[in-house]
Amino acid sequence: MPRVSPYAMVEVPDALAAILERAQPLGTEHVGLTQARGRFVAEDITADADLPGLPRSSVDGYAVVAGDDAAQLEVLEEVTAGRLAQAQVTRGAAVHIMTGGTLPKGADAVVMVEDVEEVDGHVVLQHKPRAGENVHPPGMDLAQGQPVLRKGSRIGAAEVGLLATVGCASVPVFRRPRVAVLATGDELVEPHQTPPAGSVRDSNRFALIAAAEEAGAEIVWQAHARDDEQALERAMREALAKADVLLTSGGVSMGTRDLIKPLLEVMATIHFGRISFKPGKPLTFATTSDGKMAFGLPGFPVSSLVTFEVFVRPALLKLGGAQTYMRPRVEVAVAHDIRPDAVRLEYQRATVTWQDGRFVARTTGLQSSSRLMSIAGANALLEIHPGTQTLATGTMVQALLLANL
Ligand code: AMP
Ligand code: MG
Repeated sequence: MPRVSPYAMVEVPDALAAILERAQPLGTEHVGLTQARGRFVAEDITADADLPGLPRSSVDGYAVVAGDDAAQLEVLEEVTAGRLAQAQVTRGAAVHIMTGGTLPKGADAVVMVEDVEEVDGHVVLQHKPRAGENVHPPGMDLAQGQPVLRKGSRIGAAEVGLLATVGCASVPVFRRPRVAVLATGDELVEPHQTPPAGSVRDSNRFALIAAAEEAGAEIVWQAHARDDEQALERAMREALAKADVLLTSGGVSMGTRDLIKPLLEVMATIHFGRISFKPGKPLTFATTSDGKMAFGLPGFPVSSLVTFEVFVRPALLKLGGAQTYMRPRVEVAVAHDIRPDAVRLEYQRATVTWQDGRFVARTTGLQSSSRLMSIAGANALLEIHPGTQTLATGTMVQALLLANL
């Protein structure tokens, strides 16, 4: 076993570039509107027609001719949403109209029911109606041909509503990346088991499954394997046959039972096997000859989730067709002194709040790579560049926002 890693130390931007340049959308499919939430639309979607198609009343009231100053107006008929009036409105006449009703011919204003007096079949207007009053003109909400959703945008509630509005009932979306998750380690037991001395419960598999699903992936395979070469190779081959992306946890360091890198060397091409990053220096990235991706994530729970967040999440989103796959960045003031790592870029977990006109960040306590509590509840990763000088309280640093503030 060599004492020095055979893998060159790769800087974070280069590692990310090596991943993202190989992450291209996997294909498209159609789903129904109730299945579309969280997916990424695969084509530009445009409005099929003006909305509203005809002038429409925005209130319950009386459709009249603007400027009509007759003492009282004859009510010709009543029109509700979804029905068209027969009558033609002229000065001295009105049509009783409900919210969403189409304006009758001749009418170009609606006086709210609150602004009229109704006297047996006639109405008295309390003000002279202005042209366009309480009228939604055709195309006000959507103009025919107008772009509604851009290719690669994420479909949320408003987007589902828009798709329905423009008649896109079968929605073109990108295919979700299929992900396999393999936890490795002789020390691992299942979460329902009580770990014997020296063992720990497998948390990475479940955390990574959750993180991958949040990034839009479909989990098609998952397992735990012991640190045994044959067992690992069998599991990795099976996973890669089923999935677009294999995530392994553990077994990428310099220990004698760290077998993932040598196995990836056999079944794929390793693009990097070490990054100048904390937590998670041994992160490994490889691709197979048929274009599948494999990420060897470190075993410590924080290293595994933070490297997922920074390197795998953008890849899964991009594979899944997302146009925006990087977290938003903001400048934050640190609320206490922070000591940087001497050589590696470090992402410290923090909570960011808005305080006295700026974002202020507090780290989540001990930043050990085994301490999952340092991620739980964090809403940001602070980007701490390597150096020898302590960052004093109030220093501005960049943060990746993980959740809405
Ligand atoms: P490794 O990188 O395989 O040497 O793993 C380093 C350490 O991370 C192990 O000693 C375990 O304490 C921990 N670890 C590895 N895999 C898992 C896992 N699936 N769940 C929780 N902890 C893990
Ligand atoms: Mg291990």
